[in-house]
Amino acid sequence: MENLSTVLIKNTSHVVGYKNGGHYLIKNGQIAYKGNEIIYVGKKFEGQVDEVVDAKGGLVIPGFVNVHAHMGTGPVDKGFIEDCGTPNLYMTTLYEYNRGIKGLAIEDLLKVMDFSLAEMIPKGSTTIQELGKATDEMVQKIGESGVRAYIGMHSCPGTAKTYDGKSVVNSEPDLKYGYSQLEKNVLLKEKFDGKYHDRVHITLFPGEDECTPPEFLKEVRHLADLHKMKITIHTGQSVQEYNYIVEKYGVTPAQYLVDNGICGPDVFWTHYYLKSGHHLNPRKMPGELELMAETKTNLVHCPWVVGRRGYAMESLQQYLEKGINVVLGTDTFPQDMLYEMRAASVICKIMEGGDPFAASAKTIFDMATLGGAKALGREDLGRLAPGAKADIVIFDTKNMDFLPYRDPIKILVYTARSVYIDRVIVDGNTLVANGKNLRVSEQEYEKLYEQLQDVATRKWAAIHEQDWAGRSIEEMSPLSYPEE
Ligand SMILES: [Zn+2]
Repeated sequence: MENLSTVLIKNTSHVVGYKNGGHYLIKNGQIAYKGNEIIYVGKKFEGQVDEVVDAKGGLVIPGFVNVHAHMGTGPVDKGFIEDCGTPNLYMTTLYEYNRGIKGLAIEDLLKVMDFSLAEMIPKGSTTIQELGKATDEMVQKIGESGVRAYIGMHSCPGTAKTYDGKSVVNSEPDLKYGYSQLEKNVLLKEKFDGKYHDRVHITLFPGEDECTPPEFLKEVRHLADLHKMKITIHTGQSVQEYNYIVEKYGVTPAQYLVDNGICGPDVFWTHYYLKSGHHLNPRKMPGELELMAETKTNLVHCPWVVGRRGYAMESLQQYLEKGINVVLGTDTFPQDMLYEMRAASVICKIMEGGDPFAASAKTIFDMATLGGAKALGREDLGRLAPGAKADIVIFDTKNMDFLPYRDPIKILVYTARSVYIDRVIVDGNTLVANGKNLRVSEQEYEKLYEQLQDVATRKWAAIHEQDWAGRSIEEMSPLSYPEE
C-alpha cells in the first residue's frame, strides 16, 4: 500500500530549495512531502501534517544523482590498484591491473553489490546509474534496496587487454555475443523498467568504444530509439584506445561515436579525458569538445578514479565553457559523491593554473544534482521543489566539518564528510535515520564486511591466473610497507 501521509521536515539550518531554474538557500526553511512527492519548500508550511521530522538544525539538500557506478565490482579494486600502472602503456591500469578483478562469479558480484548499496545510500546517492552484469537478481536487489536506479547491462562484444605488458590487443568482436546481450538488455527493460514504484529504469551499456565496431554501435542506437533507452559508453580513457580508434577509423573517438549514432542528450560518454590537447595525447585533432557540445552529449566526470591514475580533465572549466553538460559519478571506489565533488573542484582549480574561481562550489553542486537529473531527462530529480520526487538528504551541521557555519554549499564541496549524513529519503521512504541504515542492521553490516573481504581475498589469491606474466598480487601491487 502506498503511504500518502504528509511529512514535514522542520528545524533546519537551511533547505536548498529550487526555483527559477536554480538552487537557492532557505534559512531555517521547511520542506513537506506527501507520498513520494514534495509539496512544499519554503519558510513555514501551513497545511495538515501527519508526521514531523526534526532536522535537529541540519542542512537539507536534494539527494545526489550519481550517474556512473560499477556496484558489483568497484570496491574489490581497493588496496590493490592504487600506486600501480603499466609504464609501457602510458601508466594506465586498464589493460593489466583491471583484469585482476574481472570475471567475478555471479554470487560474488551479488555480495559486492550488497556492500555497495550499503555504502552508497547512507553516503547520499539517491539516484544511481549502475553499469555491469545486470542479471535479474541484481536488478531485484537494487530495486529492493529502496534507491532510485538506472541500470545498464554490459554488452560489449570485445575486450582489450595486454598479453605482454607493452602492447594492447583488441580482440575480434564477438558480435553474436554482443547482440545476444543487447537482446537480454531489452528483455530486462520489458521486465523491470518502471518497476519498484517507478524507481528502476533500464539503460544500454555497450561497454568501451575500442571494442565496439560501427555496425554494433548502430544497432545500439537503433534499440535506444526504439525502446527509449539511454546509453552509456566508456570513451577517451586511455592513449591506447584513442590511438586505436584514430588508426582504425581515421577519426577521434568523439567523431567515431557521433558517426555511429552514440551521441545526443540520451547518451553518457564516460571519461573522455584524453582529447587532443591533453598533455598525454600528442595528437592534434580538433573539434572534440565542440562535438560533445553540439550533439548535447552528457560527459561523465569521475575525477577521483582517474586522479589516482595520475591524470586529470584538462580542464573541467574548458568543458563547461563549451556548454557541455558535465555530470558526476563515483565509478569504482569510494562510492561517495563528496569525494568526486571535492576532486572535481580542486583539480580543476589546479589545472587552470591556479584559478580559485574555477569550478566553484555552486558549479559542482549543480553538476552533482541538476546536471545528473538533466542527463537522465528528469526534471523531478536533483532539486527540492513542489512536484519533485522526495529524494532528500539531511546533514548534521553541529560538528567539526560544518562549523563555523555560513555557506553550506562550500562546506559540502570542500570540507564535509558523508559520515555526517543523518537522514536519507528516497521516493518518500526513509532509508537512513539518525545516521543508521534502516534496511541493513549492524549484524548485516558485519556480514557484508566479511563477504567483501572473502570475495577480495579469493580474487587476490587467484590473480596470477589472469595476469599475462602469472604474477602474484604481491608482485603486481606490493604492500606500502613490509608486513611481518
Ligand atoms: Zn566505468
